[in-house]
Amino acid sequence: MRIICEKCDYIINRDKIIEGQIVEEYKNIYGTRCPKCGVMNKPSVKPHIIVEQDVKRELLREEVREKLREKLRRK
Ligand SMILES: [Zn+2]
Repeated sequence: MRIICEKCDYIINRDKIIEGQIVEEYKNIYGTRCPKCGVMNKPSVKPHIIVEQDVKRELLREEVREKLREKLRRK
């Protein structure tokens, strides 16, 4: 994957390419420092807190679904 610097729009390409083939895709997990301006570009992976919120939301949705199912069963 290519990372575009937040500050200067410099394209950082850290994929390992051998004979035109991407042999290893670089992922911005820990943040990538721009070689041009030195700005730390935030990881593209969702922070843990957001993932937790997603899980909670999904659980709530599941609860609602269960209640709806219950209602339909009673009819
Ligand atoms: Zn930059």
